[in-house]
Amino acid sequence: MKNYFLNATIQALPFENESHPYPHQECLSCSNFIKDPICPKCIFRGFRQWLQIIPKEEETIKEKVNYFLERNKHLEKCSVTCISCNKNSTHTCPYCFTDFLYKVTKEAGAGVRHLTQFLFLFNFDFEHKGYSHDLEAYGGY
Ligand SMILES: [Zn+2]
Ligand SMILES: [Zn+2]
Repeated sequence: MKNYFLNATIQALPFENESHPYPHQECLSCSNFIKDPICPKCIFRGFRQWLQIIPKEEETIKEKVNYFLERNKHLEKCSVTCISCNKNSTHTCPYCFTDFLYKVTKEAGAGVRHLTQFLFLFNFDFEHKGYSHDLEAYGGY
């Protein structure tokens, strides 16, 4: 009890110290607690390799994803620890990030065959609430 004020001061500190903010536990996009932290950069690494099979759309897609990553760069040091690269860089949950990749790929004009393959390889829709319905519609599950 006597340490109450001391603790309160310590807890308040990170807000005053920009270089040590509290880790962001929630996804930037859906605000849910990030349960399976794989950071956008790690997912993007695999995605970039896959992108080579659609060279016509590749540049447009890469540009949009890089813009997103660049814009959220400041969060890469203070977010949830990624289980793949061990950096505190998971500011967006794997579902939201792959949903974003899916939309960007679709917008860029990728065909159903490639979209199906994308959803099959990068499926983080474990709760079956989003793009996995598209995968079923394409008949690719
Ligand atoms: Zn999310
Ligand atoms: Zn990572």
